[in-house]
Amino acid sequence: MPDEKKKVFDVESAASLVKELRGSFNAGKTKSYEWRIAQLKGIEKMIDEREKDIIEALHEDLSKPELEAFVSEVSMSKGACKLALKELGHWMKPEKAKTSMTTYPSSAEIVSEPLGVVLVISTWNYPFLLSIDPVIGAIAAGNAVVLKPSEIAPAISTLLSKLLEEYLDNSSIRVVEGAVAETTALLEQKWDKIFYTGSPRVGRIVMAAAAKHLTPVTLELGGKCPVVVDSNVNLQVAVRRIIAGKWACNNGQACIAPDYVITTKDFAPKLIDVLRHELEEFFGKNPIESEDMSRIVSVQHFKRLTRLLDEDEVSDKIIIGGQRDENQLKIAPTILVDVPEDTEIMKEEIFGPLLPILTVENLEESFDVINSKSKPLAAYLFSENKQLQKDFVNNISSGGMLINDTILHLTVSSLPFGGVGESGMGSYHGKFSFDTFSHKKAVLYRGFTGESPARYPPYTPGKLKLL
Ligand code: NAD
Repeated sequence: MPDEKKKVFDVESAASLVKELRGSFNAGKTKSYEWRIAQLKGIEKMIDEREKDIIEALHEDLSKPELEAFVSEVSMSKGACKLALKELGHWMKPEKAKTSMTTYPSSAEIVSEPLGVVLVISTWNYPFLLSIDPVIGAIAAGNAVVLKPSEIAPAISTLLSKLLEEYLDNSSIRVVEGAVAETTALLEQKWDKIFYTGSPRVGRIVMAAAAKHLTPVTLELGGKCPVVVDSNVNLQVAVRRIIAGKWACNNGQACIAPDYVITTKDFAPKLIDVLRHELEEFFGKNPIESEDMSRIVSVQHFKRLTRLLDEDEVSDKIIIGGQRDENQLKIAPTILVDVPEDTEIMKEEIFGPLLPILTVENLEESFDVINSKSKPLAAYLFSENKQLQKDFVNNISSGGMLINDTILHLTVSSLPFGGVGESGMGSYHGKFSFDTFSHKKAVLYRGFTGESPARYPPYTPGKLKLL
C-alpha cells in the first residue's frame, strides 16, 4: 500500500484505541493469572521462533553485530520473560502485613493490583529489549498495554508491530508506530501509567503531559556515567571491561555506557597505553571497518557526535582515534585527554564512541567532579582500595553503581534498574518491573469483635482513661 493511503494516527485514533483497551481491561480480561501466563508464553514463543528476524532487524537499524544483538537484546528479553513466567505466582500473592493494637483483632495484606491501561514509549539504542522488557512487566502485572517503539529504529518498530499482533492478544496489547506527532496524540490520552525510556528533554514533555491526568510515570533517562580508575587495579582486565561497556555495547550508544574516565595525572599515560593496545586487539588497526562494532544510528546523531569532536579546544585533545566515515555512519573509538570542562563534550551526554579522560592530582578530587554534574544513571569505580570503594558508594549518588566492572549490574534481575534526579525516576527489571506496573493496595480485615467505647462519642472524661 502506498504511504498516503495509510490512515494517520491522530488524537481521535489514540482516544478510540484507549477506549477499546479500557473496555478489555474493565471486562477483567487482563487480570487473570492464566491470561498473563498465556501472553508471556506468547512472547517467549515469539522470541524463539523469530530470533533470526529480530537479529536481522537490529542489523538493519544499527549494524548491530550478531553476537551483541543476541546477548544484549534477544537473550536478555528471553531471560526477563522466563523469570516472569517462573515467578508470577509468587509476585501476584498478597503480602501479609503486621497490624497494630488499634485494630486488634485484625489481619492485613498488601494486594498488587494492575493499574489499568498503560503506555510504554521506547527508544532506539536497544530497540527490541527496551520495548519488550517493560511490556513484559506491564503484562505480568495484569495491565492492558500500548507500546510506541522508536521511529529511529524503523526495522524493529515495524517488526514489533507485526509480531505483537501475531503472537499476543490484540484486544489488550497493541503497538502504535510513529514519531513525535503520534506520540503527542498518545500523550494527550488519560493513561494509568506511562513508562518512558529516552532523553531527559522528552522525559520532561512526557511528565508534563502525564501531570494533566495525574498519571504516574516511570522515566528511564540517561546522563554522563563516570568511570574512576585507580592505579592499583589489574589494568588489562579493567581496560577490557571499560571497552566492553563502551564500544562493545552499541558503540557507546548505551544509557549506562562509560561517558568519561577520571584518573590521576601520574597513571593516565599507562592507562592510555593499555587502552590503545586492547582497542587494537579487539577492533584492529582500522576500526571503522570492523564488523564487531555497531554504526551510529542516524546522520543526525553522526553530525551531533562529530560536532562535539570538532569544537575548538576539543579536536586537539584527541590521542586515539578520531577517524570517521559519514557514508557508513561509523566513528572510530576516540579517546581525548583533559578536554576543558566547559566544552559540550564534557557537558552533554555523549552517547557515542568518544571517551574523554580527565586527569586529577588525587582520586578524591573525582568525587567533586562527579558531584558537580547531574546525577548519572550509573557510576563506575575500578579500585582494590576498600576504603575508596566505600567512600564511592557513600558519596556518589547515581541510579546504579558497579565496582570493578561496567554495565553488568543491569543483568542482575534482583537489582532495581533506574535513575535518580536527572537520570530518571522509578525502576524496573525482575520483580521491580511487576511492582512498577502495579498498585500496592492496603487491605485490612476485621470481624465484629474488639469494640473500644473510647472510639465513639460522646467523649466523656472517663473514656480518656480507657486509652
Ligand atoms: P528521545 O527522547 O529523543 O526518544 C525516545 C522516544 O520519545 C521515541 O519513542 C520518540 O518517538 C519519542 N519522542 C521524541 N521526541 C518527542 C516529542 N517531542 N514528544 C513526544 N515524544 C517524543 O530519546 P532517544 O534519542 O531515542 O534516546 C537517547 C536517550 O535515551 C539518552 O539520553 C539515553 O541515555 C536514554 N536511554 C535511557 C535508557 C534507560 O534505560 N534509562 C535506555 C536507553 C536510552
